[in-house]
Amino acid sequence: MEILENYSLASWNTFGVDQRARYFATVRDPEEFLALARRFERPLILGGGSNILITRDLDVLVIKNEMKGISVIGEDAGFARVRVNGGENWHQFVQWAVARGWGGVENLSLIPGTVGAAPMQNIGAYGVEIKDVVLHVEALDLETGSISVFQKEECRFGYRHSIFKEAGYKNRFFILSVTLQLDKHPQVNTRYADVEKKLLEQHIEHPGIMDVHRAVIEIRQNKLPDPARLGNAGSFFKNPVLTEKNYQKLQSIKPDAPHYTFQPGLVKVPAGWLIDQAGWRGRKAGRVGCYEKQALVIVNLGGATGAEIRDFALTVQEDVRQKFGIQLEPEINIW
Ligand code: FAD
Ligand code: NAP
Repeated sequence: MEILENYSLASWNTFGVDQRARYFATVRDPEEFLALARRFERPLILGGGSNILITRDLDVLVIKNEMKGISVIGEDAGFARVRVNGGENWHQFVQWAVARGWGGVENLSLIPGTVGAAPMQNIGAYGVEIKDVVLHVEALDLETGSISVFQKEECRFGYRHSIFKEAGYKNRFFILSVTLQLDKHPQVNTRYADVEKKLLEQHIEHPGIMDVHRAVIEIRQNKLPDPARLGNAGSFFKNPVLTEKNYQKLQSIKPDAPHYTFQPGLVKVPAGWLIDQAGWRGRKAGRVGCYEKQALVIVNLGGATGAEIRDFALTVQEDVRQKFGIQLEPEINIW
């Protein structure tokens, strides 16, 4: 296994920022990973680099996860249980499932990155989260070298959250594989307006999972910037969740503020709408900007450093706080 030194990460993060890693290695099985973990303390594990902002050269070992493999470990008339190794590409796995007619992940089509990173923030889109299909997650504990199995309830999944983001767990567990249960007789979820609209446009009255898969791909290709052309890591901030009282305060400034019930007594407000209302959609500062079709996506207009992107995001965050009294929290992992 080759360990490269002073290695540029420009091709390994979707923001395309050119920071360096002191050491860099690619792993294809748990033994390779363990061998490295014994030699280097607290490595940074990298999947597709699509949810990370690197703001400095990293004086650590960066390990690129290339552990591949999809296996059906059990099935009956209703469901298939599938174990997917963490280095598999998420979207390719979705394609694999949809091609078999197995449902549950079609709304999560075209999310970049790896299967191993997906439980980290409980990836979600169009009303579905990975937690809806996860059975368990297998992870290697860097402190003890042992493998732990986290059942779904133990993953403490929440809105863009899991145990693997919590203090004491973050950067300690290397997710080796995810085992999911897919539905052989799936019901589709088309409750997000964009999906419903796209299917209506196509005159599809009784959509199946392939229809939803294709609709989501088309919507995303039209609305989101392709990181290969314009560096970005998707939504920079999470949608804020407000108490009803705080939502009423927002309404006193913006009576038409959109909101969705999160839990009884709590509402979710689209962060992209707040950023747009603060005047940032399509606005640029130097080599960084807010994407014109979705203000929540911060883009590298070419050659920006990670620090420039972070500073731009801080400016947007502070402006939203001043205008609406709402503190946005980054969704992205900042190094
Ligand atoms: P990375 O960026 O490589 O890593 C993210 C974090 O996970 C880092 O802290 C890293 O250290 C850690 N990590 C990575 N792999 C492992 C592992 N095997 N074990 C332990 N820790 C690990 N997200 C959504 O939820 N929904 C969306 O709809 C969505 N759309 C997006 C659209 C675009 C255009 C882009 C660029 C991003 C989008 N994202 C979305 C964000 C991102 O794609 C997901 O969070 C994805 O799961 C990140 O995977 P990754 O392999 O690239 O992770
Ligand atoms: P959108 O459809 O324009 O909606 C804006 C926001 O409103 C979304 O963030 C969504 O919350 C919320 N929303 C819309 N309809 C809803 C409903 N029926 N019920 C509950 N909440 C609703 O969003 P978009 O930017 O085009 O993204 C579409 C989907 O892809 C969203 O689910 C979004 O999370 C996901 N996405 C995620 C990323 C990322 O990097 N995390 C990047 C691009 C897209 P939720 O975000 O909670 O769904």
